[in-house]
Amino acid sequence: MQMPAVLKHCEDVRDYLMDYLDGKLPKSDAFIFRLHMFLCSKCRRYMGRYKTSVELAQHILDDPPPLELINLTAEFLKKQSKDE
Ligand SMILES: [Zn+2]
Repeated sequence: MQMPAVLKHCEDVRDYLMDYLDGKLPKSDAFIFRLHMFLCSKCRRYMGRYKTSVELAQHILDDPPPLELINLTAEFLKKQSKDE
């Protein structure tokens, strides 16, 4: 099964940060980035030093992803944090 791109490891998603802040990310990647930030408390902590972190979590609610994708991502992140 092809993993949805949002199910990336935290380090991979964080690589998007600079491009996201520069507005260089394609819409689909920006969406992935925001969804990951919304669901992943570890990344939100990491992002805490950037003032956009709060904005990120808010904006996703303007344009909510499909519930299925949210659940899938939440499930993945739970497993991932258990592995550590
Ligand atoms: Zn993360």
